[in-house]
Amino acid sequence: MMLDMTRDVVIVGGGIAGLSAAWRLRRHDVLLLEAGDRLGGRMRSDPCGDYWLNYGAHLFPAPGTLVDRITQELALETVPVTGGMMGLAVDGAVLEGGRVESYPFRLPLSVRERVAFARAGLKVQLAVRRYHAAPNRYEFENDRTFAEFLGPLPPKVREIFACAARRATGELDELAAGAGIGLFALVWAGKGSLIARNLRGGTGQLPAALGQVLGERARTSSPVDAVRPDGDHLVVRAGDEEIRARHVIMAANAPFAAPLVGPVAPQAADALAKLTYGAFLSVAVETNETSAMPYDGVYAIATPGRTFDMFTNQAHALRVGPRQPGGSLMLFTGAQKAAALMRESDEVIAERFLADLHAMYPETRGRIAKATVRRWPLGNVYASPGRGALQPALEGALGTHENLHLAGDYFAELGTMEAAAQTGMAAAERVEARIREVTHV
Ligand SMILES: Cc1cc2nc3c(=O)[nH]c(=O)nc-3n(C[C@H](O)[C@H](O)[C@H](O)COP(=O)(O)OP(=O)(O)OC[C@H]3O[C@@H](n4cnc5c(N)ncnc54)[C@H](O)[C@@H]3O)c2cc1C
Repeated sequence: MMLDMTRDVVIVGGGIAGLSAAWRLRRHDVLLLEAGDRLGGRMRSDPCGDYWLNYGAHLFPAPGTLVDRITQELALETVPVTGGMMGLAVDGAVLEGGRVESYPFRLPLSVRERVAFARAGLKVQLAVRRYHAAPNRYEFENDRTFAEFLGPLPPKVREIFACAARRATGELDELAAGAGIGLFALVWAGKGSLIARNLRGGTGQLPAALGQVLGERARTSSPVDAVRPDGDHLVVRAGDEEIRARHVIMAANAPFAAPLVGPVAPQAADALAKLTYGAFLSVAVETNETSAMPYDGVYAIATPGRTFDMFTNQAHALRVGPRQPGGSLMLFTGAQKAAALMRESDEVIAERFLADLHAMYPETRGRIAKATVRRWPLGNVYASPGRGALQPALEGALGTHENLHLAGDYFAELGTMEAAAQTGMAAAERVEARIREVTHV
């Protein structure tokens, strides 16, 4: 059924990219269509008594960023992560902090492994400086893989770097060197970085609050099946409904966006189809701990050799003042390792993750209230070699009438909520300028 009216803008996808665009355009005639049963995409959490369970994105960007500004405008509160963010656990030794340069000498490694680890670490540190100075992140070290950049490594040291790289959802031989270096730049950037804070109450509070502002203009369970040109306008089909729009902001993940964009902007569709995504598999663990735990002062620990690659303490922000019973952890693995493991049942996945959690922290035995498995087949987007060449086809207003605009974290060499929000905002500003032009003619 085609409605007679023509909307100013239809936004496809209700992750933070689409929601930021809708937030900016909220005083216009905007409609956001989200395929899933709730808004937020990869930003998802549930309240859990005094705590919250996080399933996807968990670290918020520092003050001064767009996400931080929107969060504040919605009267939500982010808190700095004060616990160790760069923990590393190898063969029973857990380093919760200290200078990363000291890690090779504090872990149970052979002399050969220590030397190889220290050398590779120094190489990455020097490259991070070049990364910060690079004028164009897409082109930076984009012609070889991170594995090629690192060179041959002893297996144990290789696994330490592979474990870190899976945070970007790519294996070492999949990630472009620039993306691998960018990941370390992100993790080492500290308090002013794009991954510096937590949202009190859980990540999902932000999309929920944006959804409240948008009301009926943000529809869930509304997958878009097609977009086609119609004179100067575009028609968006969702089920048996067809909606005509002056502009469309396509904020679905690139593999879903590609076929939708094809009839309007074939070159962009081709580039979208070539972007590389990797999987994430997370287990949100509700604990019933009642007293101090060894990880109270820690936020994140990389865990090479374990079923999961990262241990995170989601209750960390609440470990000040009187302690309430309970706690919340999120364990996750990424890349091909995650893609293979997610074929198992929830029970098997939870059992394996928890067995490794107990091995790492025996204090968690008998303290697990619930473990919730979440599969993210499109966990994150990462730049692989050759990514830089795709960029021109994605940018600006697309289509004969320049009324199709792309938004999503895939504009960055590594997906983050800030990158996604920035692209949604940029698309919305472009649309707003065009709407103003038309109304002032
Ligand atoms: C486990 C995990 C941990 C992460 N950790 C962090 C972190 O700590 N910090 C950080 O900044 N980032 C993190 N990220 C990455 C971050 O979540 C993403 O970069 C960001 O949320 C992407 O936003 P987006 O709007 O571009 O995409 P998405 O959130 O994926 O939103 C796209 C939306 O489009 C919808 N859609 C797809 N097809 C259609 C269609 N045909 N019709 C309608 N809707 C459609 C999807 O359902 C989805 O809701 C993490 C991600 C995961 C999975």
